[in-house]
Amino acid sequence: MKYDYLIAGSGLFGSVFAHEAKKQGKKCLVVDRRNHIGGNIYCEHKDGINIHKYGAHIFHTSNKKVWDYVNQFAEFNNYINSPVANYNGEIYNLPFNMNTFSKMWGISTPQQAEAIINEQKQAITNQPKNLEEQAISLVGTDIYTKLIKGYTEKQWGRKCTELPAFIIKRLPVRYTYDNNYFNDRYQGIPIGGYNKIIEKMLEGIDVELNCDYNICFDKDQKIAEKVIYTGAIDEYFNYQLGHLEYRGLKFETERLEQENYQGVAVMNFTDSKRPYTRIIEHKHFEFGKQPVTYITKEYPQDWKLGEEAYYPVNDDKNQELYVKYKELADKEKNVIFGGRLGEYKYYDMDKVIESALNIVESELD
Ligand code: UDP
Repeated sequence: MKYDYLIAGSGLFGSVFAHEAKKQGKKCLVVDRRNHIGGNIYCEHKDGINIHKYGAHIFHTSNKKVWDYVNQFAEFNNYINSPVANYNGEIYNLPFNMNTFSKMWGISTPQQAEAIINEQKQAITNQPKNLEEQAISLVGTDIYTKLIKGYTEKQWGRKCTELPAFIIKRLPVRYTYDNNYFNDRYQGIPIGGYNKIIEKMLEGIDVELNCDYNICFDKDQKIAEKVIYTGAIDEYFNYQLGHLEYRGLKFETERLEQENYQGVAVMNFTDSKRPYTRIIEHKHFEFGKQPVTYITKEYPQDWKLGEEAYYPVNDDKNQELYVKYKELADKEKNVIFGGRLGEYKYYDMDKVIESALNIVESELD
């Protein structure tokens, strides 16, 4: 056979695997159905600004091994994500911290904030069983109503009572004046952009673009010993057990003839009326001083077959179906399923790298 590995998808999972396999003398072919490498971390470069074409990507991790790993491919800047929530023109700091509480209630001490939240969370007496109950028991009803409910229901197209609690646990709640959106030890944006990382990972590796694995190859292809598949798991099996649900996104990007549009990289719109969840002003990820700026409005969408799938919807119904697909996947002895779509998992970038490195270890070492 011509290759040891055929890697379907050139996002982080596929690229990390390909890079490590090549280092160990394996021959790899990476295919991607898009016309560029990098999956969803791909950026477009215009007027000196990296535009996060598939949504904002901010690298953060607490895993030193992963941090050292990505730093081989690029140096990272000192960007700290401190998004701002805009609720019908009222501005609040995120994540939920003393700055948020102080603005919301005109208070100044952690004790005052705790007293208010403790009182409001009495509304939930049981173990939280959905996102609404989880949110109220973490931050009380005011914050839930102004900063969570509208945003979350737009984002997921479902009621907060029908969403899994774990989604809201992604966000820190702090009784300190600290607007860092992440708790992780390491954080930043790669200097020179994400594309550089993927380009370096795939250096010297055969890559074919505009090539959809599910169309270009059949299951008993004779080109590679093994397949690393990072596309949607249900698509691989031709949806034979039914469709998994995903959340889609639509991006509307504008170039504006002004230096600074909103003064922050990420502004979340937490009301329920506006159809978009956030506006990204890309230059602020890299402290850009260009005379122009690019902004992107992010509209969550119902996902339809053939569209880009961004978020898995990990509710009970979909999880049950995923488990059945996973059983089929486990029977495919020469295929490894990985990444957000291959594992139907709400993975962050660092976790994708971690999981690719784990596969590398069990597969190659
Ligand atoms: N969230 C919210 N209000 C905000 C930001 C986030 O209620 O202003 C909730 C929402 O349910 C969202 C979840 O927190 O789905 C996770 O947000 P995160 O920023 O981690 O989402 P991502 O950046 O992955 O889209």
